[in-house]
Amino acid sequence: MTKDGKTTSTATRKCPVCGHEAWRVIYGMVMPDTREEYSKAEFAGCVMMEELRIYPATGKVETGVPKWACQNPECHHRWW
Ligand SMILES: [Zn+2]
Repeated sequence: MTKDGKTTSTATRKCPVCGHEAWRVIYGMVMPDTREEYSKAEFAGCVMMEELRIYPATGKVETGVPKWACQNPECHHRWW
């Protein structure tokens, strides 16, 4: 993750499933000051798990690494 100044560290998105707030997923070793800066982010450690999804527009099955995680505990939808 680099600081390019284009995105704000606290940017959130809405979950496409339930509409709850979703946070960015950050991978890799993270220093404590980075955790402070990204107060609204989910830290996934160094393991990047590929997940399968069916892209709604095309019906094609894709694999990818989730970039966003829904913060609703009953939903916890992850997407990219
Ligand atoms: Zn959700």
